[in-house]
Amino acid sequence: MPAKGPEDAGSGGAGPPPKPCPECGKPSNPATAPFCSPRCRDVDLNRWLSGKYVIPGKETDPEDAE
Ligand SMILES: [Zn+2]
Repeated sequence: MPAKGPEDAGSGGAGPPPKPCPECGKPSNPATAPFCSPRCRDVDLNRWLSGKYVIPGKETDPEDAE
């Protein structure tokens, strides 16, 4: 099998572009699609489990003064 593939063409248009992550808008990762990372996937999962659009304070920013 040839070493070179169509995916190396770059802007050749061999397929549809990856959809952005629904959480942060970054390009999705094939390993965690449609999310960009396990973190965004976990955030979305927790949202569903919580039953509301609130992100659990599990990963709050320590710099939040108030
Ligand atoms: Zn993301």
